[in-house]
Amino acid sequence: MAVVNVEKCTGCGNCVPYCTVRAIRVEDKMARIDPGCCTECYVCMREKVCPVGAIEAQPLVGFGEIFKHTLSDPTETLKETGVPGRGTEEAKTNDVTGRFRPGEVGVCIDLGRPGVGTSMRDVEKVAMAVTAAGLEIEGPENSPIGLVLKDRATGRLQEEVLDQYLLSMIVEGKCPVSGLPKVLEALREVEKQIDTVFSLGLVARTDANGHTPVLEILEELGLPRPIRGKVNVGLGRPLAG
Ligand code: SF4
Ligand code: SF4
Repeated sequence: MAVVNVEKCTGCGNCVPYCTVRAIRVEDKMARIDPGCCTECYVCMREKVCPVGAIEAQPLVGFGEIFKHTLSDPTETLKETGVPGRGTEEAKTNDVTGRFRPGEVGVCIDLGRPGVGTSMRDVEKVAMAVTAAGLEIEGPENSPIGLVLKDRATGRLQEEVLDQYLLSMIVEGKCPVSGLPKVLEALREVEKQIDTVFSLGLVARTDANGHTPVLEILEELGLPRPIRGKVNVGLGRPLAG
């Protein structure tokens, strides 16, 4: 974990603006890192912002801290998913994986971001709300959220990660297109109970005419049409199954 070596720190404040979540403060000419909101992203060390090398990495203790660091630092890779940082394959490889089949819609809720972060308790609130509304959350082979699920049926997370504060975390899964309104309504309700920001990504297949009912569902719910997106054009070879 990132700590300030009090023997070396001069209190110059160089490191403060580099922290991704404002976890560093200088008080009495000494920098301090708040362990409660440090995401262990290691930007402060990677960018070598301290002129005297006073910010040092001490060993991470337990799965919770290792998980937090691995998801918050894009130079690290979660061995279970093989994808760096908090990332997942999401819809990017749907041409090949066929993860989202006709009649299904993928939902990706990206909680936190640089400057804000997210507690895993807020991640759990969202995971439980959308699970109760019918979202099937991804498994551990595809997504970090699947790795820390304690109970797939409820969306409850493992206790050892609940007190961690991450730079960002994705709650992702899929449901039938007909079930999307219920999931989005649940998201609207739970957003009142969380202390972070999130962006919503939807993964929709179109028919031969480029039509998807997902846009109409958004319109019916009074949600804005997405202004950006990624398109898979079907050049991959789907895996069997
Ligand atoms: S590791 Fe990241 S969150 Fe922690 S003090 Fe350094 S920059 Fe801030
Ligand atoms: S940059 Fe280094 S010396 Fe300056 S306040 Fe931060 S930790 Fe202390």
